[in-house]
Amino acid sequence: MKYAFFGGQEHQKSLIPLLKNHVRDEEDPEYVFSLGGDGTILRAVQRYAKTNATFIGINMGKLGFYTDFEITEFSDILKSIENGTHQTTAFSLLEYQLIGKDDRIVGIGLNELAIISPVHTHIIEVDIDGEHFESFRGTGFLISTPTGSTAYNKSCGGSIIDPKIEALQLTEVASINNRIYKTLASPIVFSSDTTVVLRSDFANTFLSIDGIELKTSTINQIDVKLATQKVKFMTRPHYDFWKRVKKSFLN
Ligand code: NAP
Ligand code: MN
Repeated sequence: MKYAFFGGQEHQKSLIPLLKNHVRDEEDPEYVFSLGGDGTILRAVQRYAKTNATFIGINMGKLGFYTDFEITEFSDILKSIENGTHQTTAFSLLEYQLIGKDDRIVGIGLNELAIISPVHTHIIEVDIDGEHFESFRGTGFLISTPTGSTAYNKSCGGSIIDPKIEALQLTEVASINNRIYKTLASPIVFSSDTTVVLRSDFANTFLSIDGIELKTSTINQIDVKLATQKVKFMTRPHYDFWKRVKKSFLN
């Protein structure tokens, strides 16, 4: 198999001898070993999602919501790949388009697209499937996937969504609701065939995908929907999302 490492430079050296029957291919790997926490995996997915690789999250003392394995299990992980007994779980990705007068930037995300205006309140027109829905005024929005629902979305009062449900969640960040401005003011969960469009002047707005800042020029429209492509993670047998939620947030 062709593999790549992502993160954990200091640990890679001790693992390379175990991989001597395999080919390191940083451009087009079939398996990506992510050494770190969720931030490492999120960046690995940004880098490699297009290759259709299987991601293996090896936790290095972080929360590691996406990381199923410890480094001490590396030989066992490898054996299960070699004899084809490893399990994978596919997770939804979101797909965004940032549209300006002269350009169009497209990309995917595993957690969320965050649109935040920390200084001045932001007026954003929200369209659902081509119909105007509401005029928002406030700090911003998060648009998250089911696996991203336990991240930033959770901090902003969004619901936790079982990743078996193919859905996209729109969560407000500090909306102003008064006589003049009105929004629905609750998180909304959309089905997989919905496109959410946000229209505004995003020149002074922070845009980030999975915690990575997006540098943009003049954007006036943001389209988001669930991607048709999914991402594959190696998981333990009997992957159970609610056990993972309990372990991460309650234990
Ligand atoms: P970070 O600041 O380390 O992330 C904050 C925490 O969120 C970390 O403990 C991280 O786990 C955890 N996390 C990431 N994805 C998660 C998920 N799907 N479910 C549950 N917990 C999750 O930054 P980062 O590691 O680069 O991660 C980027 C993410 O941070 C963004 O996608 C966003 O969701 C989140 N974030 C949250 C807030 C907030 O809640 N106020 C603000 C900004 C960003 P690890 O310790 O394993 O990294
Ligand atoms: Mn982190």
